[in-house]
Amino acid sequence: MTGVPRYRGRFAPSPTGPLHFGSLVAALASYCDARAAGGEWLLRIEDVDTPRSRNRIADGMLATLGAYGFEWDGEVVRQSERAALYQVALDSLAARGRIFACACTRRELESMPLGAAGERRYPGTCRSGVAAGRKGRARRLLVTGEAIGFHDRLQGWQEQRLDRDIGDFIVKRADGVFAYQLAVVVDDAAQEITHVVRGADLLASTPRQIWLQRQLGLPTPSYLHHPVAILPSGEKLSKQTGAPPLDDANPLPALVRAWDFLAQALPPAAPASVAEFWQWARRAWAPTALPPVVMLPVPR
Ligand code: GLU
Repeated sequence: MTGVPRYRGRFAPSPTGPLHFGSLVAALASYCDARAAGGEWLLRIEDVDTPRSRNRIADGMLATLGAYGFEWDGEVVRQSERAALYQVALDSLAARGRIFACACTRRELESMPLGAAGERRYPGTCRSGVAAGRKGRARRLLVTGEAIGFHDRLQGWQEQRLDRDIGDFIVKRADGVFAYQLAVVVDDAAQEITHVVRGADLLASTPRQIWLQRQLGLPTPSYLHHPVAILPSGEKLSKQTGAPPLDDANPLPALVRAWDFLAQALPPAAPASVAEFWQWARRAWAPTALPPVVMLPVPR
């Protein structure tokens, strides 16, 4: 026995606001997938750029998850307490000459063409040094033209060429905050996550994370990106687009709605309680029934 778990999943919300229907879908999908496999489910608060001030929001999220009947394994991990780990990873990449300082401002990069991932491709401006008189505050990771592919359990084969689609990407921001891409890779490995189940809005980030895993000598988990809820305008449901917070006092209707959104079979008789819902959901979870699309309209 190696001691490596068979299935360890996680839910990793950012405390930008209270949990809403879109977050519930992500929590439910990752939780059911883990529990149906007899696996563990860990919680990580991704507050890398939102330290103490967001503690209240994070605590509210935990209260909501508790009210909805989610049961997590182990201690909740908070990224705001883990900068030292991210720095070790950055140092090891830097020691191997994979990192460079970048002085470009967002404004300067605004006119760059969009890559296939829908993000501005970094043109390599500071690769061989910052211009005289400028200071390189951000740190970028070098990428190559190698195709980075992976099999998504729902979306099928995915592939990017980071040089063409993304460019060298930021691992530490000019304000000193570690980038999501680095933090998530370090944490998924540190928490020995074997299965990542999350929204398809992160599909285009996965090749960057796999690239980082390879550079750091870390294992690549299995990935499933479920459809995310969008509004009639086509925007992702989020706090910014006005998603109402989940009601801690009335979990059952939202749980059933999220379950239905994921095209999962409802029990013959509507569940009468949260406990009844979970009894059904843990057994009935069928990843093969998930719609293989990246977005779906939010149900009325
Ligand atoms: N913190 C991210 C979010 O709330 C999720 C990151 C992940 O699941 O990898 O969108």
